[in-house]
Amino acid sequence: MTAFIREIETRSDGALWNNGDFVVRQMRGKESLSVHATGRAVDLSYRYVRSTGKGDATRGIPEGGRKQAIWWSRLLIINADLLGIELILDYFPEPYGRGWRCDRRDWVKYEVPTLAGAPKGDWLHIELSPSMADDAAAVRRAFTEVVLPN
Ligand SMILES: [Zn+2]
Repeated sequence: MTAFIREIETRSDGALWNNGDFVVRQMRGKESLSVHATGRAVDLSYRYVRSTGKGDATRGIPEGGRKQAIWWSRLLIINADLLGIELILDYFPEPYGRGWRCDRRDWVKYEVPTLAGAPKGDWLHIELSPSMADDAAAVRRAFTEVVLPN
């Protein structure tokens, strides 16, 4: 998981950053322990209001926090099998955020309050498969093979 976080922080030039990984905590407003407690989830923050000024036109990476978050979401989804992406939660969209799951291969916009912090939350919650979360070498190797979004 640490290797995964470092790859994204480095490749986004810090536009996305780690806002919580191995924290053992309860899900906000819920009784059960968060997947964060298992060490295979991360919250990556970005700033959606002001542009981060970070981007790389030569690699097609846009400037601005929200645009980068969308670009990275697309990258993670088209490389989901390679990277072991199981779940992405996007706290920003109205009215209640959205979630992408590997078993359904698509975003679902939540119709009822589902995510504490949505809408307008400026972070993505990402969960990796247990095997990828525990294998730094496999994560680094996978990132050398990712296909970039258009
Ligand atoms: Zn989270």
